[in-house]
Amino acid sequence: MLELEQARQRVAQLERHLLATDDNQQEATSQSPINKDLRSLFESSEDLIIFVDLDGRILFVNEATTKLINSTRGVSLRAGIHITEMFSASEAVFINHSLALAQRGKILRTNYPDNGREYAAIIQPVKENNRIIGVSIFARDITSTYEMQEQLHRYEQIVSSSPNLIALVDRNHQFQVVNDAYLEAFGKKRRFLIGTHIKQLVGEDTYRELTEPILKRAFSGEHIQIDQWIDCTRIGLRFFNISYHPLRSQDLQPGYVVINANDITELKRAESDRQRIFDLSLDMLSISSMEGQLLETNPAWTRTLGWTKAQLRKKNWLDLVIEEDMESSKDVAARLRCGESVIGFENRCHCKDGSIKWLAWSAYPDPEYKRIFSTVRDVTNRKRMEEELRQLATSDPLTGAGNRRHFIERATAELVRCRRYGNHMALLMLDIDYFKEVNDTYGHNVGDEVLKRLVDCCQEELRETDIFGRFGGEEFAAVLVNTDRTSALRICKRLLKAISSLKVRAGTTTVSITVSLGLTMHQADDSSIDVLLKRADDALYRAKNSGRNQIVFN
Ligand code: GH3
Ligand code: MG
Ligand code: MG
Repeated sequence: MLELEQARQRVAQLERHLLATDDNQQEATSQSPINKDLRSLFESSEDLIIFVDLDGRILFVNEATTKLINSTRGVSLRAGIHITEMFSASEAVFINHSLALAQRGKILRTNYPDNGREYAAIIQPVKENNRIIGVSIFARDITSTYEMQEQLHRYEQIVSSSPNLIALVDRNHQFQVVNDAYLEAFGKKRRFLIGTHIKQLVGEDTYRELTEPILKRAFSGEHIQIDQWIDCTRIGLRFFNISYHPLRSQDLQPGYVVINANDITELKRAESDRQRIFDLSLDMLSISSMEGQLLETNPAWTRTLGWTKAQLRKKNWLDLVIEEDMESSKDVAARLRCGESVIGFENRCHCKDGSIKWLAWSAYPDPEYKRIFSTVRDVTNRKRMEEELRQLATSDPLTGAGNRRHFIERATAELVRCRRYGNHMALLMLDIDYFKEVNDTYGHNVGDEVLKRLVDCCQEELRETDIFGRFGGEEFAAVLVNTDRTSALRICKRLLKAISSLKVRAGTTTVSITVSLGLTMHQADDSSIDVLLKRADDALYRAKNSGRNQIVFN
């Protein structure tokens, strides 16, 4: 509007000049109140200039106006025609009204849009000796100014609606612009902050130690970013990511610095919460590359495996895995690389002290971020307990031999295989002779020792593939896999001999024992292992009855 005001003053000045000239050259200007110099000045103007007489007839119209009206409205303007001819009927009403006002001495300022452009116009009386002799219409195309103002307004809105704290400071470190968020954070009024030195807001110490050096750097052209806690009067202690951005003026020197502070307190808190959980977790937590390189490990890794964070950083998780579990682990690594999650995969890994631990892995790959997130738990104790339970469930605690149930399970499976492949299979049962007497004479402990030695002896004599188990007190059974009758008998004799040569220490003396043994072979029509067990038991019974320490085949 300043521009328009200047233009208006210029017109008024010109008018005064024009009327002064008029006094001297009344004849020459009887038809037009404008002398030649002014005429050429008006003609060369880009503004739209029209003079009309008191009837509204055009006295003067400059070239910019004729050209524009011709091209936009198809009307040829010239001196003599009535001004309303260039307007539509409704516009004519307005213009007549405006002219009437001007004729009564009023100055009318108005903005109006036309043909996609924005104009500012001044309609005012032309006076001669304080008498109104006509009306001047002066219009200027202010479209670009208008657009700039609009744009500026939009920017202002963006800046003031931003949740970031935005301020503009000048070379004297005084606030020139601050947005609403800035005012709110510090609980200040805009009129208080504008023109105030920044040190009055941040305090003398912070200013000297932090703000001033940074502003100096920014004013020398550097773009600076810092993260910092700031105590805001209104919203308390907050963590900001602050950027100091120099704004260059025409001379290319930064004339202002934009301070843009992004409140990232929540982010910072979330980050430190995550870090605490990461550090405190009993489980091992890690972030690795898609190839398995351990990029980030929490303290639980070092507590569990002994490797330091730095040592782990040089390792791929596969480097920790023991040879026996390498194949299954490599399968898992391949699945992870394909973006597949893995839950509860178990393997064994090397600790720094040379021991081995069972680990259970759950891993989630993010192929876009190219990272694998893993939580790994030490399950060594659970695995040990499971193994102990399995031992307890399947073996006899005194001798370590398989128990009756486990023996029957394995023997049944062997029977199925034997049937399928048509292999031979022998089953034997043996019972210690007069074992009660051993207990009675030497005590239960010696009896126990005898049982253990007997089991060791049998396991030594039998092959690894054979099945051996303790059936009852001093009664045992064995399945000889892939063994024909002749071989089975030979093995039984060897067994009988080996057992009778056992010498178990009992105080100052030693104890020897003999066993009776019932043997049977698998037959085509045997429906279950019980049938074989029954036949062997019958044979054993006969061996006992026939004087013990012998083999009976059934
Ligand atoms: P036979 O020649 O007829 O087999 O006579 P035996 O004395 O061996 O037979 P019997 O069935 O009368 O006695 C078996 C004994 O085995 C009775 C029991 O005390 C003993 N026994 C069973 N289990 C154990 C054990 O775990 N430890 C010890 N020390 N003795 C056991
Ligand atoms: Mg016995
Ligand atoms: Mg017995």
